[in-house]
Amino acid sequence: MLERFYPDVYIDNIFLLPLDEFKKRGIKALVFDIDNTVAPYDIAEADEEIISLFKFLKEQGYRLCLLSNNNKKRVEKFNEKLEAMAVYRAGKPGVKKLENAMFDMGVTKKQTALVGDQVFTDIYCAHKAGVMAVLTKPICNRDQLVTKVKRGLERRVLKAYQRRMAK
Ligand SMILES: [Mg+2]
Repeated sequence: MLERFYPDVYIDNIFLLPLDEFKKRGIKALVFDIDNTVAPYDIAEADEEIISLFKFLKEQGYRLCLLSNNNKKRVEKFNEKLEAMAVYRAGKPGVKKLENAMFDMGVTKKQTALVGDQVFTDIYCAHKAGVMAVLTKPICNRDQLVTKVKRGLERRVLKAYQRRMAK
């Protein structure tokens, strides 16, 4: 029952993306959550490290997309120097915007991985859409209140997941 919240891969941060696994699976498009996945939610602009990472991934041939439930201003400002595809008010865990983004990038669900920090929005969304689900640890503890409430439940899901992986 909890499986729909379990990631396919769990990483500490986006600089540890499982590129070998992506290659093995034929992943061609990477869809990133922004807040607490790529940057703290209160940092408006992408920093040099993120810009370099996105540049590197593009050079590796990946199509890149930001998919955020946050508003237009936040997403467009953050994407300014990244020049990825950018989708705001994505309505995750709803899959409609993700499916539109995959269509626009010309990739299938099997060729797509979603990278995010929240089990109940990002990972659930990825599974519903049938794309690879990559969970990162949240970048920092400065969460918006509604997110804070979810973290407690999230920890319980992740404990169950880790027990499963240890078997
Ligand atoms: Mg997030």
